[in-house]
Amino acid sequence: MQSAMARATVLTCPVCGAERAFEGDLDALDESTLLAAVDAHLAEHALDESARAIRKHAAASRAEERIVDDATLASLPTGDWTGTIAAAADATGA
Ligand SMILES: [Zn+2]
Repeated sequence: MQSAMARATVLTCPVCGAERAFEGDLDALDESTLLAAVDAHLAEHALDESARAIRKHAAASRAEERIVDDATLASLPTGDWTGTIAAAADATGA
């Protein structure tokens, strides 16, 4: 059976590399939606305010569209940030 293809928009955290996906293409999403999602995640990184603002806009500007099949779309982290948890642990060694 052929899977239907769908579009997803993926945000990547510039600090830890975790990913958060949204169903639909980039044009269908408000920038404020992307910024709010990034900001909520960046709160976990205990950045100072200016660093957080810079990274928030950087992440939103690098949101990328991906064409995925339905099975992949269902497995994307649409409700949560995930992806490279191990890498994040390495990066926070300081
Ligand atoms: Zn992160």
